[in-house]
Amino acid sequence: MVSVQVVVIGGGPGGYAAAFLAADLGLKTALVDPEQNPGGVCVYRGCIPSKALLHVANLLAEARHAEAWGIGYGEPTIDLNKLRAFKDQVVARLTGGTGLLVKSRKVQYLQGLADVTDAHTLRVKLKAGGEETVQFEHAIIATGSVPAVPASLKLEDPRVMDSTAALDLPDIPKSLLVVGGGYIGLELGSVYAALGSAVTVVEMTGGLLPGADRDLVDVLAKRIAKTMKAVLLNTRVVQMKAEAGGIRVTFEGGENIEREQVFDRVLVAVGRRPNASVPGLDRTGVRLDERGFIVVDEQMRTGEPSIFAIGDVVGEPMLAHKASHEGRVAVEVIAGHKAAFAPLAIPAVVFTDPEIAWAGLTETQAQKAGWTVTVAKFPWAASGRAITLDRVDGLTKLLIDPATERILGVGIVGSGAGELIAEGVLAIEMGANATDLKLSIHPHPTLTETLMEAGEVFFGQATHVYKPKRT
Ligand code: FAD
Ligand code: NAD
Repeated sequence: MVSVQVVVIGGGPGGYAAAFLAADLGLKTALVDPEQNPGGVCVYRGCIPSKALLHVANLLAEARHAEAWGIGYGEPTIDLNKLRAFKDQVVARLTGGTGLLVKSRKVQYLQGLADVTDAHTLRVKLKAGGEETVQFEHAIIATGSVPAVPASLKLEDPRVMDSTAALDLPDIPKSLLVVGGGYIGLELGSVYAALGSAVTVVEMTGGLLPGADRDLVDVLAKRIAKTMKAVLLNTRVVQMKAEAGGIRVTFEGGENIEREQVFDRVLVAVGRRPNASVPGLDRTGVRLDERGFIVVDEQMRTGEPSIFAIGDVVGEPMLAHKASHEGRVAVEVIAGHKAAFAPLAIPAVVFTDPEIAWAGLTETQAQKAGWTVTVAKFPWAASGRAITLDRVDGLTKLLIDPATERILGVGIVGSGAGELIAEGVLAIEMGANATDLKLSIHPHPTLTETLMEAGEVFFGQATHVYKPKRT
């Protein structure tokens, strides 16, 4: 029998951040997860392996692009075994690190699956065999999410993959259909396109990345039109049939589309659903909403006073950094600190080429809510740094409250947008206004200047854009 102050169920970026902080605050802590080391979806089969592959995809694209600068490398050779080994080694290195941190913090790590006995007891079916009972003062549920696969897209055939299977890089298919033009579809679709597959993306709505502002998506869509074979919008897959020569797919909707097409492989990436299926949870006061998310308040408390929940299992956005922050809030609350999860900005980054990133209010949200905001846009064609990189396909925009001149939102599309957005997050959280951005000296020549110059655009005084303020 293990007796702890805090037990965390699930060792993803939410769960391990929570367990580590609990130990740092002097609480006796246990962490339960089926893997050998903490990491969860993000490290084992999500953020990290996909970004390792996207790094390689960007290198391939850059090398091809270099021909325009007089540098020729010829056609690249791709050793898939070596590439897979690189990605696996990235994951092993990170999870080895989290494993060491478990030991140095003296967190009790139980490798197995937990089920709940009551509001202060759980049982772990250990991977090594046998069971362990854990008595706890507080538990944090951090069991994450799993791919959502509607019945029409279910087909028991190894050529139909979810993101985990696609990250395993079974081969480089000649043709790949990606179902879902969201984060995973576009990121992993980009990887396969760079490796040489003819990629078709089918998206049921009228545009890619439905949650993002259209002006940002348009820039990406233009590039994708060159790197991918086709993007089918307003289109659904109604049937998939396994044949010897490939997966025969029937489409519905869309315009001028061949209704039946055969693909070597299909990647289904139509969203993820919360994994709240911890056995025994129904014996407690923990409640789920109609979409299956665990209901929590701002302090990450569930309906059961001793049980907290964080990360993908409590709601969108399903992002690793949101999970980690929620985990730390839950622990602070358990430790008796005054804390709540109430961010002004949770950054979102789509790691395509170009990247799309946003934080705080989006233009789409402002329009829907009927709020008046001033949008100041700085096109990267006017950025010295973007020109030196030969990547002027970018845009930085600020959403500004015209009354207070405060920055409410930031949206960026362009190479490295994911790194640039952090300044936007800080500006929003610190209550910065357009003058603050304009007056902060940014290094030259860098893409960060696009944020400063977007601030200048607001006043009609951007050095590199002639756009006088309308009076
Ligand atoms: P998870 O990471 O889902 O971890 C939950 C853990 O709980 C798992 O290890 C699971 O095995 C374990 N578990 C489940 N049930 C039990 C049980 N009964 N007992 C014990 N353990 C249990 N997000 C980003 O922010 N940036 C990215 O670039 C990014 N890329 C992604 C790419 C892909 C392909 C995918 C699929 C996701 C990506 N995400 C990304 C999303 C990100 O992975 C999730 O938001 C994040 O992992 C959520 O963290 P979590 O701690 O809530 O849960
Ligand atoms: P998503 O919600 O990002 O995109 C799913 C897309 O599929 C949507 O555009 C949706 O309209 C479309 N769709 C739904 N049903 C469809 C159907 N039957 N046919 C065609 N299109 C359909 O989901 P995802 O790409 O599976 O990713 C899941 C989540 O994982 C993301 O929402 C995000 O929270 C997280 N994630 C984040 C990152 C990152 O931060 N860079 C990367 C990957 C995943």
